[in-house]
Amino acid sequence: MENIVIIGSGIAGLTAAIYNARANLKPVVVSGKKEGGQLMLTTAVENYPCFPEGILGPDMISKAREQAKKFGTKFVDGDVKKISLKGKAFVVETEEGNIESKAVIIATGADAKTLGLESEKTYWARGVHTCAVCDAYFYNGKEVVVVGGGDSAMEESLFLTKHATKVTIIHRRDKFRASKIMQGRVLKNKKISVVWNSAVEEVLGDGKKVTGVKIKNLKNNGSSVIKTDAMFLSIGHIPNTKFLSGLVKMDEQGYILADRTKTNIPGMFAAGDCVDKVYRQAITAAGTGCEAALEAERYLEGG
Ligand code: NAP
Repeated sequence: MENIVIIGSGIAGLTAAIYNARANLKPVVVSGKKEGGQLMLTTAVENYPCFPEGILGPDMISKAREQAKKFGTKFVDGDVKKISLKGKAFVVETEEGNIESKAVIIATGADAKTLGLESEKTYWARGVHTCAVCDAYFYNGKEVVVVGGGDSAMEESLFLTKHATKVTIIHRRDKFRASKIMQGRVLKNKKISVVWNSAVEEVLGDGKKVTGVKIKNLKNNGSSVIKTDAMFLSIGHIPNTKFLSGLVKMDEQGYILADRTKTNIPGMFAAGDCVDKVYRQAITAAGTGCEAALEAERYLEGG
């Protein structure tokens, strides 16, 4: 029987592993097929303290993994298929077999929704982004588009106005889904304009970076091109929690409901983007990973 199984090897899971390993708990990390999480899909991370020159997302993950390993973390490849309860313990079904554990930390993250375009993949992190707080800085004095009409799209657009000279929101309907207060702020902002009833059909570029987007008007089927240096997607996220359905309390979108990191199941903790739909930052994910690890330690000590 293991002490702690940590599910997910993004920055939340690896931070939890570093803490639990340094407490001699010999944690087991089930890495998941998308090993390393969303940081593996970013380029320079410039807002994580201690890296004044910035650090590449994949480098950050590889260093955190090395650090977790150094203190005795074991790694298991692949995804978790299911977790079930066995008395007070957990049975974690992985692709490599079952692991029994006294405690588990869920740190499976969330995936930003994408449009599913081939050209979106071509320019991923080279003009196509999903986090304005992370990447707006690269567009100082440039023009950007934002896709989406929810609160996140409003927030991202407003944040982008601090850097870009012009922000164009492309929304598929003629009304925003966002709260009235956020809509008001956006519609009042002189740097922001809105293209209604439209969908991005293709991301255009010069092979190295984004130069524009081809859009289709969904009312009259007309196509046009907007010149832009970047496209920020803000069309929602999907938490990676399907394998837990029926076991732990979640909201209607699948985010785990937790009291800080404590779920409704004793011994099961949650950290990072699978529980946080508001901040979604590397530093906050690492912070909750630490919290979950300390709570799990306390639980194992019977506290
Ligand atoms: P959301 O509310 O689900 O909005 C997603 C937006 O993207 C919608 O406008 C949707 O269009 C559009 N969309 C979805 N799929 C699309 C596609 N394939 N192509 C084009 N457009 C697409 O997601 P969110 O904005 O990320 O917010 C998630 C939750 O967090 C919400 O409950 C939100 O209120 C909350 N949140 C709150 C704050 C805040 O209070 N400060 C900030 C951020 C988020 P339709 O409208 O046509 O469906």
